[in-house]
Amino acid sequence: MKKTIYEEIMTSPLVASLSRCQESVWINDKKEKFDIAASRAELGKSDIADASARLKRFASYFKAVFPETEVTGGLLESPLREIDKMKAALEEKYACEISGKLYIKLDSHLAVSGSIKARGGIYEVLCVAEEIAMREGGLSFEDDYAILAEDRFKSLFSNYSIAVGSTGNLGLSIGIISAKLGFSVTVHMSADAREWKKAMLRSKGVEVIEYASDYSVAVENGRKQAEKDPFCHFVDDENSKALFLGYSVAAERLKAQFDKEGIVISEENPLYVYLPCGVGGGPGGVAFGLKHQFGDNVHCYFAEPTHSPCMILGMATGLHNEISVNDIGIDNRTIADGLAVGRASGFVGKFMLPFIDGCYTVDDGRMSALLAMLTDSEGIRLEPSALAGMYGAPALYRSSRKAMSGIHLVWATGGSMVPEDELEKYYIDGKNNEKNFN
Ligand SMILES: *Cc1c(COP(=O)(O)O)cnc(C)c1O
Repeated sequence: MKKTIYEEIMTSPLVASLSRCQESVWINDKKEKFDIAASRAELGKSDIADASARLKRFASYFKAVFPETEVTGGLLESPLREIDKMKAALEEKYACEISGKLYIKLDSHLAVSGSIKARGGIYEVLCVAEEIAMREGGLSFEDDYAILAEDRFKSLFSNYSIAVGSTGNLGLSIGIISAKLGFSVTVHMSADAREWKKAMLRSKGVEVIEYASDYSVAVENGRKQAEKDPFCHFVDDENSKALFLGYSVAAERLKAQFDKEGIVISEENPLYVYLPCGVGGGPGGVAFGLKHQFGDNVHCYFAEPTHSPCMILGMATGLHNEISVNDIGIDNRTIADGLAVGRASGFVGKFMLPFIDGCYTVDDGRMSALLAMLTDSEGIRLEPSALAGMYGAPALYRSSRKAMSGIHLVWATGGSMVPEDELEKYYIDGKNNEKNFN
C-alpha cells in the first residue's frame, strides 16, 4: 500500500521530534547565496525603499496624533541594547559559549502598540489610508501628512472599514491606528488573545469579535465577512505583502543604530539574528530587510514554541501552508500567545526559504524561565513570546557544539503594554520554571 503523506513525513526524525513537542533545531539546506536568492525574488530593494519612504511621509502625522513619537521624529523605532549581564547568565545557566556580543532589539517598546506589529500592521493601514486620501481627498505626495488628522479626512475614512484576524498584537496595532485615522474597524480575536488587549481596543471604539478557536479560524471568519463589503479592507496576515514590507524597513533603521555604536557587520564579524515566529510575516519581513542590508554576513533564525512549530514544519517538509501542526498531533496551545499559529503564511515560508539559516523550537517553560532571567539580569520586562529568540545562541551551540563568533541579536517582539499585574504573574511563573530548565 502507498504511504500517505502523513506516514511519509512522520518517518523524518525532525518531524517525529516536533510531533513529540521536543525542542528541535532545523538547519536549512535550501539556503542560497544572497545575490542568487535576491535575483530570483519577486520583491526587492525598491519595494523596501518604497515602504520606507511611505513611513517617512507619515512621520508628521504621527507627531501630530501620537506625541510620544516626537522623540523619534514621527517614526516608530525601538532601542537597541547590549545585554552582557544576560549573556553571562545564559552562558552559566546553559553551560554554553556565546562568542562575541549579545544585543537585544526592543520592539517590545515600539510606540503606539508595544510590539513588532507596530511595524507591519500599522504600515498596511497607512497604505490603505494614503490610497483613499489621494483618490478622494486630494492628498498629494508633497503635502504635509499632518493634514490627515483633520476632520475632513477622518470623515472620509469613516466611509471605509478595516478588518483583521489576530492572536492579539496585530489586532491591537491595526485597531489603534485605524481608529485614530477614523476608519471603522473590526478585530477578529482568536482564543489566545489576552483579555486586556480586547478591553483596550473596545475602549478605543474598535469592534472586537471573539472566537473560542485558534488563529486560523479567526482569520478565516474575518476574511469572509470582509469579502461581503466592498468598502472593507481585510488585512490578511497569512498572505499580505504590505505587512511584510512594513516589517522589512526595520533593517535600515538597525543599520543606522549599528553605525552609531561603531559596529561593523562583516565576514569577520557576522550578525546572527533570532526572530520569534508566528505566521511568519514579522520575522520574514525583518529577515528579508536584513538580508538586503547585510547580505551573506547576516544569519537569520526563526524561533517557535514547541506547541506551535508551523514554520519549521512547513519549511522542513516543503509543505508550507499545506500542513498544520494539528496534522502531526500537536495542539497549538502555548503561553506565547503572539506565536500561537498552527499553519504558516502562504507566502513567507516559500519566499524566505532561500534566505534563512534555520529554525528552532523552544519549550514554554523555558521561555517563561528566560523571561524571569532577563528581568533579574537586565531589568527588562517582556511578554513570553518575545523570549523565544533568547534561546537562539544557546540552542545553536548545543546542537552544533561550537560557538559562532559575531554579534548575536535577539529580536524582542512585545511586552511594554502588558498591564503591571500580568507582568508580575509572568515573572512569578518564570521564577517557578527556572529550576526545571537547564
Ligand atoms: C505577532 C508576533 C510575533 C510574530 O510575528 P508573525 O508575523 O506572526 O510571525 C512575534 N512576537 C510577538 C509578540 C507577536 O505579537
